[in-house]
Amino acid sequence: MTQLQAFIEKLHHTYGPMDEGQVASYIPELSKANPDWFGISVVTIDGQVFNVGDTAQKFTIQSISKIFSYGLALEDHGREVLLEKVGVEPTGDPFNSIIRLDEGSHRPYNPMINAGAIATTSLLKGDGSTERLHRLLKMFKRYTGQDVFIDMPTFMSERITGHRNRAMAHLMLNFGMIDKDIDAALDLYFQQCSVMVTNGDLATMAATLANRGKNPITQVQAVNEDYVRDILSIMYTCGMYNRAGEWAYRVGIPAKSGVSGGILAVIPGKAGIATFSPPIDANGNSVRGLQVFEALSQEYNLHMFDLSLGRCNFCI
Ligand code: GLU
Repeated sequence: MTQLQAFIEKLHHTYGPMDEGQVASYIPELSKANPDWFGISVVTIDGQVFNVGDTAQKFTIQSISKIFSYGLALEDHGREVLLEKVGVEPTGDPFNSIIRLDEGSHRPYNPMINAGAIATTSLLKGDGSTERLHRLLKMFKRYTGQDVFIDMPTFMSERITGHRNRAMAHLMLNFGMIDKDIDAALDLYFQQCSVMVTNGDLATMAATLANRGKNPITQVQAVNEDYVRDILSIMYTCGMYNRAGEWAYRVGIPAKSGVSGGILAVIPGKAGIATFSPPIDANGNSVRGLQVFEALSQEYNLHMFDLSLGRCNFCI
């Protein structure tokens, strides 16, 4: 067994018994997740795969989808056009905060908060809802290497209960920040959040970003390599809800988490790492996931700004 495999098994054993955090329930369908589910996966850019725990369990991707739809919107419109509609500033506000939309430029602060993600998704090209959804699913397939599906109960659950998201879309429509067809934009946003993945898929998706946008298992280019730096920058500054700053300080690599309990992180030029465990803290981050990443970062010197002499960044 390799040292990395042994280490993630040790982490799984150490943090498995934790019982802090709560499974998200504001989307009723998410509350059905088993709090004991826990998986850790690593995929390197030369295609090595390391897994421990519930890495084949399917769950909905939720907010992690936002980085991928942002990449597609960049391909569709380019940096400057997208910047006019969605900013790149962290907020320090909760992901579903509506308050700042009513201030200043009325432009959502960044594409990782819900307002910015809805605006981003509303910009995706396609002739009608079906084609736009098809483009999104094809994009996810390039990253995961397999067909992806939407979990209908979660989609319906979000659609019925997503009043805050609907309110944000109306506010943005009022300010002319998104197009008039907000129901279609919201449906597409709820659908992208309801895409089912496994923890192993998330690690492959992260490894694809680490590998300049090319899936290291299938060798398919998932996103134009020019835009990988944009995606990673946003992940680094805004990817971990209200813990983005502390994450950058302690773990030091670009990452994105979602309320269903996934965290995906990228070691540029090296590997993708993902954890899945549904209990989340008050910020929305998986509690077991945070522990695992801090330990991995220390053990493998993952912090991007650690330039200590003799430091070997992710040498496995
Ligand atoms: N679909 C969720 C929402 O819109 C995503 C939230 C998340 O994972 O942060 O509230």
